[in-house]
Amino acid sequence: MKMVPPKEIDLKEEKRANTLLFFLFYLTFVLFDVYRFGIRPLLNPDSEPILYKSLTIMIAHILIYVITTALLPLSIYLSKKQKPFFVKYLYFFVFMAGSLTIEILEYHGTNNVYASGSPVELVFVLFSPIFVDRTYYFVIVIGLVCKYAFMGIFTSSPEVALPIMLLLLFSVVTFIILNRFIGYLNAVEKSYEHSSHNEKLAFIGRIATGVTHEIKNPLTSLKGFVQLQEVEQKYNPKYSKIMLQELDRLNIIVNDLMVLGKPQAVKLKPLDLHECITYVVDLFQQEAENKYISIYTHYDEQVQVLGEDGRIKQVLLNILKNAIEAMPDGGEIRIKLFKDQEWTTVQIIDRGIGIPQKDIPNLEKAFYSTKENGTGLGLMVSYKIIEEHGGKIRIDSEVGVGTTFSLCFPTPI
Ligand code: ADP
Ligand code: MG
Repeated sequence: MKMVPPKEIDLKEEKRANTLLFFLFYLTFVLFDVYRFGIRPLLNPDSEPILYKSLTIMIAHILIYVITTALLPLSIYLSKKQKPFFVKYLYFFVFMAGSLTIEILEYHGTNNVYASGSPVELVFVLFSPIFVDRTYYFVIVIGLVCKYAFMGIFTSSPEVALPIMLLLLFSVVTFIILNRFIGYLNAVEKSYEHSSHNEKLAFIGRIATGVTHEIKNPLTSLKGFVQLQEVEQKYNPKYSKIMLQELDRLNIIVNDLMVLGKPQAVKLKPLDLHECITYVVDLFQQEAENKYISIYTHYDEQVQVLGEDGRIKQVLLNILKNAIEAMPDGGEIRIKLFKDQEWTTVQIIDRGIGIPQKDIPNLEKAFYSTKENGTGLGLMVSYKIIEEHGGKIRIDSEVGVGTTFSLCFPTPI
């Protein structure tokens, strides 16, 4: 499940709210002008609007149309620049500046009672909750109340008290809606934080299980050799050598897991693959015997590649371990080593349960496992190590027949 952080949602939602504002703003703006300058004078010829009487006011109206039209491309530009949060303020302030200018021009030098006001103002108040922003809401309400108060004083019309009262009444309603929106959003945000925290915990849990599992194998083997030493009651240099190697392997595993996300330069040295395979087969000999599995090795000749000893052993170990686990009823595992001019190949061939074709692409993914106690880390780490050696892994498998893992290393020149 991919979670989208709240910041991105904010940007997207703000753009959607802006689109709604554009639509409502232009619709109300144009319809109101069509009504007051077109329809109303037609229906009631006595009420000829002031627009037709004053050239200045007409020019001011035309200018306002030009500016509000220009607002649209400017807003789209701001949205593209990831700044959609300014757009609503831009519309409100431009509208306020325009309507104040026109109203001052209209009422200046007259004794008329102030009786203006546009339905666009109502759009700003009623739809302010769609932006879920308290600051914007207060700017709108305070801005409009101040405008009415100013015009009331300017035209000496105490009648403005009525529109101010109505405005405040609407504001209370929208404030309640706005607060409900904000409350709902906070609840959603909390649940987002909660679930992403849970996801992280689950991920850490999986990593911890994986790491524990990977480390457990060498630890078990170390414990076995210590117990053997105790039973035999005498120092056996062969055991110490293996134990030290196991400790090295532990170190490598920990390093590998630590650098999984951060590629580390491998130290390539000439390496005897024959020796690596023998080492890993020896490690598993006892376990294989217990499970009635025989491991056969076929070598052409002494084969060298460039690689890091510990890491190559880790890959061989992961793949041989999987092969053993794939053969619950026992059988044969064959390991072949051959080379041509381009590639030096180690093949590990089991006669186990096999892998369905559709699952093969999943094998290199972390945590992909079909085993009850699997970690799904072994193959992922192996893929990564082989890649770091400039090599590749090929898998041929048939369900119920068996699996062949081919590890191909570039043949040294
Ligand atoms: P794990 O062994 O912890 O499950 P791996 O990354 O080693 O994780 O392997 C991932 C999966 O690949 C295994 O769970 C298994 O389903 C499949 N797989 C790997 N090797 C073999 C194999 N030789 N035969 C059948 N299935 C295999
Ligand atoms: Mg495995």
